[in-house]
Amino acid sequence: MTETLILPIDIPTLALSRGMMQMMFGGLLLYIGSRHADGQGARWWAAGFLLNGLSLFVFPIQVPEAWEQPRAIVNHLSLGASSICLLCGFWRFGRQPFLPWLLGLLVVIPLTSIIVFELLWPIARWRVLLTASSQAIFLAAVQFSLGRPRRPELAVIARRMRAVVVVFLLVHIWSYGSLADVLPMTARLEVDYHRSIYSVASLLFMLSLAVGCLALQFALLAARNADLARVDWLTGLLNRRGFFHAAARGPKGRPQTPGGSLIAIDIDHFKQINDRHGHAAGDCVLQQLAELLRAHARPGQLLARLGGEEFCLLDPVQDVEAACRQAEALRAACVQSSADGQTPAYTLSVGVHAWQAGQSLERSLALADDALYAAKRAGRNRVVRSDDLRDGGGDGVGGVEQAPDAR
Ligand code: GH3
Ligand code: MG
Ligand code: MG
Repeated sequence: MTETLILPIDIPTLALSRGMMQMMFGGLLLYIGSRHADGQGARWWAAGFLLNGLSLFVFPIQVPEAWEQPRAIVNHLSLGASSICLLCGFWRFGRQPFLPWLLGLLVVIPLTSIIVFELLWPIARWRVLLTASSQAIFLAAVQFSLGRPRRPELAVIARRMRAVVVVFLLVHIWSYGSLADVLPMTARLEVDYHRSIYSVASLLFMLSLAVGCLALQFALLAARNADLARVDWLTGLLNRRGFFHAAARGPKGRPQTPGGSLIAIDIDHFKQINDRHGHAAGDCVLQQLAELLRAHARPGQLLARLGGEEFCLLDPVQDVEAACRQAEALRAACVQSSADGQTPAYTLSVGVHAWQAGQSLERSLALADDALYAAKRAGRNRVVRSDDLRDGGGDGVGGVEQAPDAR
């Protein structure tokens, strides 16, 4: 048996087992893809693996002479359709644009190979080579798509998958290059050696690709769950965990270093709002304030609901004077917007602190909080800056209006 030159394997059995394994992975991807909102990519992959499995089932079946041609046609076309589905899966998963011309190539090449080298001039070697060239294009396109992962959390898996794709692409070119007589003599092996190596390599590749696709989908789900754990569900702002996480990563992936300013915000007498108007009205106030904060926040500022009715705004560059102006504008806007009668009227007490070198974020936040509580002690509905506390002051820059409950 020529197929046993390298390993004691026979290629048709190998193809059948690979087909079955791919179908299992296809089923798994279909199940996961249909259970999650962000599962379209996985559904395309599932279709790709199922079609590829189908093409492998068709390949080793013993058929009568008359069926040889339809078998070759189904084999080539299902292989082409599988590549298209897999590639669409990578594009959809990566939120990348679909390239119709590339998909067209992956349809036209196997079709041409069937029409020209099977139906018109049956030359099996050229038919196989032409279809193999579309496989090489497919591999290059996957490689390119994996180079642009949609989230940094997916980068490690994408990098490993790219390494697998490159190795397989080289084996692919080497094997079919040898078949096409374009390799130098030193790089050639017996055709059957190539066949055995290629069969084992494609088994390992397709299984690695399937495992990689599953890993990508799970990593995406984990990343989205991590996002949810960092966001406050009521207001959509960052929660305390999200705030510290975002500050630790910084805007460009580098930790936020001391500098800029922190604004700590607390709703005055919020408990009374809940007691008088009900918890649902209290929730509306929190949502309305979050909207107001969003409207006043500038690009690069981190906005969070740290807990209960306490919010925080971190600006990595803004100096304390500008931060006080922003805090005062917020306080005044809040008085104005809560006077519209749609939600219970409320006011804010605000503390502003300049984040200095040598201070941790936690320490800085505690100092902004000290200023906030000084604003509470001074009568609420006002802005106090932390350096005024050290200077013996306490009234801060704002504080001209009385809280509604004090009226
Ligand atoms: P102060 O002016 O001193 O800040 O008084 P306060 O009443 O605002 O502060 P206190 O800490 O006494 O009360 C905070 C209240 O916030 C108590 C709690 O029931 C309420 N609260 C916390 N989280 C939520 C929430 O998600 N929704 C609603 N409606 N209320 C909340
Ligand atoms: Mg309060
Ligand atoms: Mg509070």
